[in-house]
Formats: sequence, C-alpha cells, structure tokens
Amino acid sequence: MTSSGLKFFKDVKRAFFLSRPNRFTVFCRLGKKVVKAFLPNPGRLRELLLPETLVYLEEAQNPQRKMPYTAVAVEREGTPVMLHTHRTNDVAHALINRKLIPGLEGAEVIKREVSEGKSRFDFLLKRGREKIFLEVKSCTLFSRQVAMFPDAVTERGKRHVEELAVLSRGNTKGAVLFLIQWSYAQVFAPEYHTDLEFAKALCKARDKIKIIPLSIRWRKDLSIDLSEIKVLDIPWERVEREAKDCGSYLLILKIPEDRVGEIGGLGKIKFKKGYYIYVGSAKRNLSKRIERHRKLRKKLFWHIDYLREIADFHTALPVRSADDLECEIAKSVNDIADWKVPGFGCSDCSCSSHLFRMEQDPLSCAKFHNLLQFYRMERVVGENLKLKR
Ligand SMILES: [Zn+2]
Repeated sequence: MTSSGLKFFKDVKRAFFLSRPNRFTVFCRLGKKVVKAFLPNPGRLRELLLPETLVYLEEAQNPQRKMPYTAVAVEREGTPVMLHTHRTNDVAHALINRKLIPGLEGAEVIKREVSEGKSRFDFLLKRGREKIFLEVKSCTLFSRQVAMFPDAVTERGKRHVEELAVLSRGNTKGAVLFLIQWSYAQVFAPEYHTDLEFAKALCKARDKIKIIPLSIRWRKDLSIDLSEIKVLDIPWERVEREAKDCGSYLLILKIPEDRVGEIGGLGKIKFKKGYYIYVGSAKRNLSKRIERHRKLRKKLFWHIDYLREIADFHTALPVRSADDLECEIAKSVNDIADWKVPGFGCSDCSCSSHLFRMEQDPLSCAKFHNLLQFYRMERVVGENLKLKR
C-alpha cells in the first residue's frame, strides 16, 4: 500500500498489444521480444485492445506456469484501465473495509462467494440488522464520459440482478456494484445496444435493489487514487426510453478478393476487396432484422441482400434508439470511410449512400470505435453533459 493509494499488483512491466488469438491469450511486444500473456477477462474489449496499445504485464509468481505473464491493465488516453476480473473482488473488498463506497458505509464483509438458495453472490455484508448480498461487476466499457455494462451478452449478469431483486425484502437487501475502471466517466447506463435483456432486468429491479456505479482512478503504478472515487448518475428516463428493440445498425461485410456484383436496380458494380459497412434501421424487431442479414437463402429485397450474396458476414452492431439516427450515422461513416457506393440503400432518403468501404478491419480501427461509441453512448445517454477534459 502506498500513502494515498491502494496497490494490487507487483512487478508490473509495460508492453505493447499485438494480437489476441483467443479470449484468454494476448501477444505483446515487451522490449524487443514478443511474449504471450494470460488475459483474465472474458469481455470483448474491442475498443481497448487496439494495435500498439500499452499493456501492463504482471510477471507470474510461479515460473513453471505455461504463460509467464498476466495482462492486468491497458492504457487509454494515458490512464490505466484494470482488466484483471479476478482481482475485482479484492478491490471491492478493500474499498468496503475502508468505508469508501457510498451507500455501503458501515457494512462489513461476513463472507465472500456466498450461496443463497440456488444462487451464488460475491459478498455477504452485514450492517446492524441488515444483511446485504452484493454482486460486483467490473466495467471496462466507456466512451470519454459515459460508462456502460456489459460489453457482451451476460445471461449470468441478468440472472444475478433478478435473483437479488427476489431476495430483497425486510432486512435483507440485494446490491450490485459496478466498478468502473475509468475516472472520467460522468454517467452510467446498462448497455442496451448489445444486451437488451440485461438492461430491461436492471430497469425492472431498480426499485428493489441498490445499484452503485462507482468510478475509480488507477494511477500509472497501478494503485487506486483514493481521492478520486465517486458514484455516477444513471439517466433512468433515457435508458427506459431507449432500451427497446428498434433503432439503427451497422452491418459489416467482408469481401476477400475483388469481385463484381449485380445489385438489383443499381446493376453491375465492381467491389474491391475490403470491409463494407452498411447503415440500416428497423422501427421494430431490430434484432430480427440483424439476424436476417446473417442468413443467406432468402428473397432478395434490399440492395444489401444482393451484396450479402457475394460477401462474408463479419459483424453486426446495433445502435438502439427511439430517435431515427440512421442517416446521421451514415454521414458519419462516410467521413471515416475510403469509398462509398453511390445510391446504395438510400432510395428513401437524401443521403448519397448507405454503403461504405474501409480497407482495414473497422473493428481494429480507433476512429471506427470512436464513431460507434459516440452513437451508442454520448449521442443520447450522455446528451447535454458538459465535456470535461
Ligand atoms: Zn440516409
């Protein structure tokens, strides 16, 4: 422990991210060597693990271990973001002991990993006669000012929230602590674009359980700055308005080699190899619409259906919203793309196109993630926030 901080890691080295061949493994450049490291985080982390990002590696205590290093944090805008999900509960425990979590002051830890009925929660706390079951989630998804959870669908997370709501009565309370590893965040919301069901469950449980989105700041020596711990607001009204199965989506297709396609009324078009981003929308059943694009074997109706016949599905990214953002998103993609197909997918609007090409995979491109985060996080959830730098 340092004088004004809490430390959780030792022998940390700085390296640079190269690749992530599977969920729990990363390759990094450490000095002149390429090393393999264990990544104890099942999240997607797409916007954090970009090429050449600074990664903090902890040396394994046991030299016999298969991977000599563990990736414990990455840097974003010069600030570390802690990734080690197995240490999240240690951090929460230390903050509870020091009475640093607003809403849990005066509570003491009775047990970690506690079973209650068929469920299992991270902590059982006691405060006077009150019993608190606490589940802790590490939040590593954020734009500059808006933090969201989860970054991938979490059935388990949804179940936890529902179970905590059921057991909350009398002197027994359920609580969820979202530990946000980013101190610049000003508001928190459930990530309804990717996991609509989790968001709905959290909205439904919000009167029954205590929800604490707590942001913390990691210093470069990977200690927590105790003077910068704060609870964030949740804009519930906006979340409840937006968290529905409608809105826009970005569909990314890959064309592995140059080819010519017959695109309905547009006729023959030459497509250079690369990544194609299509911006579409659905006023209802957005998930179903996206699912339709995954499948081949269907009646060809839209321009995009013809392109899908000759391209590989790469990914689809929903941007749920009660507002119609489709054309606004298309214009923003146009600004970062290399090329567009004039007249594609825009017969009902005044845009010049809704199909754009990027040579590089958009998912490993910072400007694409900035765009996506703007529309998923800042544009609506973070609307009217004063930009603090
Ligand atoms: Zn348009």
